[in-house]
Amino acid sequence: MKILVINAGSSSLKYQLIDMNGEVVLAKGNCERIGIDGRFTHKTHSGYTKKIDVVMHDHTAAFSQVTKALLSGEGKVIDSLTEISAVGHRIVQGGTKYDRSVLVTPEVVKDIDEYAELAPLHNKAHVQGINAATKAFGSDVPQVVVFDTAFHQTMPPKAYMFGIPYEYYEKYAVRRYGFHGTSHRYVSGRCFELLNKPNGEGTRVVSCHLGNGSSIAALKDGKVIDTTMGLTPLDGFIMGTRSGAVDPSVISFIMNKEGLNPKEMDEILNKKSGMLGISGVSSDDRDIVNAIEDGNERAKLAWDMRTYEIIKYIGGYIAALGGVDAIIFTAGIGENQPLLRKEILESLGYRGAKIDNEKNMAVRGTEAEITTPDSTVRAFVIPTNEELVIARDTMEIVSKL
Ligand code: AMP
Repeated sequence: MKILVINAGSSSLKYQLIDMNGEVVLAKGNCERIGIDGRFTHKTHSGYTKKIDVVMHDHTAAFSQVTKALLSGEGKVIDSLTEISAVGHRIVQGGTKYDRSVLVTPEVVKDIDEYAELAPLHNKAHVQGINAATKAFGSDVPQVVVFDTAFHQTMPPKAYMFGIPYEYYEKYAVRRYGFHGTSHRYVSGRCFELLNKPNGEGTRVVSCHLGNGSSIAALKDGKVIDTTMGLTPLDGFIMGTRSGAVDPSVISFIMNKEGLNPKEMDEILNKKSGMLGISGVSSDDRDIVNAIEDGNERAKLAWDMRTYEIIKYIGGYIAALGGVDAIIFTAGIGENQPLLRKEILESLGYRGAKIDNEKNMAVRGTEAEITTPDSTVRAFVIPTNEELVIARDTMEIVSKL
């Protein structure tokens, strides 16, 4: 069975065509700057890469590029669209209704559209992605949606409620939802296999997704009990360009001082803060590290602030879990930045964590255990694979049709 996985953003559409027989990625790529000037990348498993500038007016036009690339030219990987059995979509916000992946129906699309109020940049784009897929494949090809929020739906109210008047929860569903759920689900599932604990029964795990956007989730018996991201993916600790949690009054204070409206303030907190905002250098971790090596003190401050915030969250989660058996590192930084992993694990010396320095320094982008055999906390680097989760869920749901 071949499944097309779609991750539609407001001006982008990423895709992977996965042959579930062996879980092979036949092709993958990205339509960027949709509705602007347009850039299209297509790569195949045999090593072919195509990069072109092409105007795509909307997501339907982007979909045409994708199907054309899959079907023709040097990057061709299928003979006919009928070879694609189903389409799986990544959806950012599934509200409280969706605690698992589901088949796309008109009602599901309507819900995703309604939840756009909670994720304006993402959910509208997801609906466009679903509609464009329906146009390309027709309504006979089943589509499945996989929600970033679903895995976190096991959180108890004491973890997901905010300390504001209850009426805002009742009127507007303002609460912690948590994001990166598909990633936390994949890496924790793999971690339970490595711990020899099917479904995570009896385990206490802290999963650190450290990328451009970052979040940490605490899992007890395989279920999320708390996570750092909140109503939106802005909460938590310092990210590439996002502030993470700040004293809420900082926001109204700066808005008053600078005469900013909510949209402008939102832009500052989401796009101009975090590692970029503190360092003034870049949101990219590699640039930050280079700047630190060049003696840039603000880059070092950004780095130290982030490490400190992460250590505090992990410490809090260990307290909430009543201990910890394993720590997971994943995503661009978690998988590739040994220095950050080292600082975090050394801070857990009080819990008996012992890092295997040689192993840790060598691990980049591959799965490995990076603590010593006598460490009381095990730490793993586990490369994430959200697309594979989407493809697996899609296959499972459509197989039952
Ligand atoms: P992601 O959002 O998961 O794609 O992660 C992006 C972040 O990972 C950026 O800050 C990159 O600098 C960082 N990153 C990716 N590859 C590496 C690498 N090889 N070494 C250090 N950082 C990396």
